Amino acid sequence: MKNSILVTGADRGLGLAFVEHYLQQGNNVIATSRRQPIGDALQNLQQLYQDKLTVYFVDLTDELSINHFAEQLAPLNIALDIVINNAGISVEQSLGNWKTENFIQHFMVNSIAPMLMAQAVLPYMNANSKLVQISSGVGSAQWNIGTEKGLDAYAASKGALNILSRRLSAKVADKNIIVSLLNPGWVQTDMGGSAATTTIEQATLQMTHTIAQLSLKHSGLFIEADGTLIPW
Ligand code: NDP
Repeated sequence: MKNSILVTGADRGLGLAFVEHYLQQGNNVIATSRRQPIGDALQNLQQLYQDKLTVYFVDLTDELSINHFAEQLAPLNIALDIVINNAGISVEQSLGNWKTENFIQHFMVNSIAPMLMAQAVLPYMNANSKLVQISSGVGSAQWNIGTEKGLDAYAASKGALNILSRRLSAKVADKNIIVSLLNPGWVQTDMGGSAATTTIEQATLQMTHTIAQLSLKHSGLFIEADGTLIPW
């Protein structure tokens, strides 16, 4: 059976790769982008998969934009089998240069927006639907900070995403909706940079394989791209 899949932040990086992967598998994909017009790569996919891909404008820093997007899904009478809250930002600021605005932006895009998006699309999710929150290894309190200097706001925002998503998993357990936190690993996107250890293709294949295996026993858990558990 083919699934309906929602992916946020679909214009580049992992979001674009998720969209392409699921389209190639024959699924229906709803993609969100904050660009007007959308970027060339997503436009190309729209042309290739006209009847399978729908792109909506969503600015994730705007609660009204998220809610307006969800309202537009109502008349479509669809069920979302997989929701991937992928969009994220990472701007380094070292101690001594920390700024309120930088923390607020990280929490807005990386922690609050995925939760508001989840809330808005829950009415379209059924038993065994999967909500996949793209987190990061740095969101673990056990992360080895090492020589890394300025990912504090990013790490804190992913840590907040982790705890909020774990709480959400308990709130939707009676509906049998699966809520999992997934770390892509260090990936060669604009965010990850060219020195990253994993290609976009490798990370996407690994994550989509893991997503396919997710069941209720994974709800409320923080896992690596390959499905192994990450300590909080
Ligand atoms: P990229 O920077 O390549 O892409 C980020 C995406 O998020 C873009 O599509 C961007 O849109 C979108 N986005 C950012 N802000 C907003 C906003 N306000 N509203 C709507 N969309 C927005 O990142 P990656 O693909 O690398 O990252 C994807 C996810 O994986 C993120 O959550 C990230 O934290 C996580 N991650 C990535 C790692 C890596 O090594 N790459 C490691 C660990 C986690 P636009 O193109 O318009 O800017």
